[in-house]
Amino acid sequence: MEMDQIIETGVAHTAAAHIVRHSTTRGREELTVVWSTRTHLCDPIDDIGQHAKVTLAADVVPVLWEHGGVGWEPPGTQCPVDGRYLAPTCEVVRGHAEPAQVEALAQLVAERADAMVAADRARIRRELRRWINLTSEVDEDLPRLDTMGEPGVGVDAGGVLVAWAYDPHGAMDDGCLVDMIEVREDD
Ligand SMILES: [Zn+2]
Repeated sequence: MEMDQIIETGVAHTAAAHIVRHSTTRGREELTVVWSTRTHLCDPIDDIGQHAKVTLAADVVPVLWEHGGVGWEPPGTQCPVDGRYLAPTCEVVRGHAEPAQVEALAQLVAERADAMVAADRARIRRELRRWINLTSEVDEDLPRLDTMGEPGVGVDAGGVLVAWAYDPHGAMDDGCLVDMIEVREDD
């Protein structure tokens, strides 16, 4: 088998490779594959990690399956909780693309991944809003925001309800998420 060759894309959070695969109908095929290295989450609010998560590494060419007549695609990953399929953000074109085309494909991949990240964050904000609404209906003592070690709803120094969760697309420190998404009662 011919060696896959990782190539530069010039676009953040993307990776690419020139590869050769053997098609059942077309025989030897030179391909260019461009993929996102952002994490795809079945459920962005799931802190315990039961739902499926897919992250393609920058230095490992994704596995590609040939779909009859359609072309090459990475297989989806099925979520063990709800059975949904997560498909990596990936583009495959025939031929070993020139750098300008690789960059254009990488921009397309990055835009799709950015939209996914924005959708995940919006979903988290809607969920946090729901937590605040639920909490404001029940009469219970809430923790002070600055004492909370786990996501949830607390009160700030001014007595305002604040719900927060970790941003699954944010920075990591020592394998743990550190960036938070916050929704305030008075937002
Ligand atoms: Zn799931």
